[in-house]
Amino acid sequence: MNFLEERIVKDGFVRPGNILKVDSFLNHQIDVSLMEEMGREFRRRFEGKGINKVLTIESSGIAIACFAAREFGVPLVFAKKSKSLNIDADTYTAEVESFTHKNTNTVIVSKKFLSPEDKVLIIDDFLANGCALKGLISIVEAAGASVEGIGIAIEKGHQQGGKMIREMGYDLCSLAIVESMDAESGEIVFRE
Ligand code: 5GP
Repeated sequence: MNFLEERIVKDGFVRPGNILKVDSFLNHQIDVSLMEEMGREFRRRFEGKGINKVLTIESSGIAIACFAAREFGVPLVFAKKSKSLNIDADTYTAEVESFTHKNTNTVIVSKKFLSPEDKVLIIDDFLANGCALKGLISIVEAAGASVEGIGIAIEKGHQQGGKMIREMGYDLCSLAIVESMDAESGEIVFRE
């Protein structure tokens, strides 16, 4: 098991409804050293790809993405979940269905912060059905920038998102891939 898998087994909880709770180190309280280690891992994995921008979506991706951006020495941009109906014309937007909240958000990125020269590393905390990633990818492509890589902390491999994103040809790296998890026994099995 790698450092993240070990931490998930130690402090994660499986909740009914196919939810893995990791709020003691990732989604509410944040273990900053763990974020730093993830940032280093993403740099190792995507080094040489000319990354000049990191993109994530608020809110839980931001902490991990910060450390990835620091490793590459590049800015981090996060897509905002817009509450306003009056969306600024100078933004790229995408509709993202939330797996955990069961609602749809319009997410926005200002056109000032993405341009055709950008080689983007997309980072997020979880990959489930892939809606968040599809939204972020569409924003990068609308800006004429390129998605050079996608780094995920925890992929739920029994859901379709990872397969879909790999089949689309993106270079996806998930630090921990949960193959199965059981809310009753609490057992979590990782992909080899
Ligand atoms: P997707 O868009 O791939 O279906 O879901 C990804 C988003 O849903 C992530 O950004 C994350 O916030 C949330 N998410 C999906 N599954 C889980 C889960 O099992 N646990 C937690 N804590 N968040 C999840």
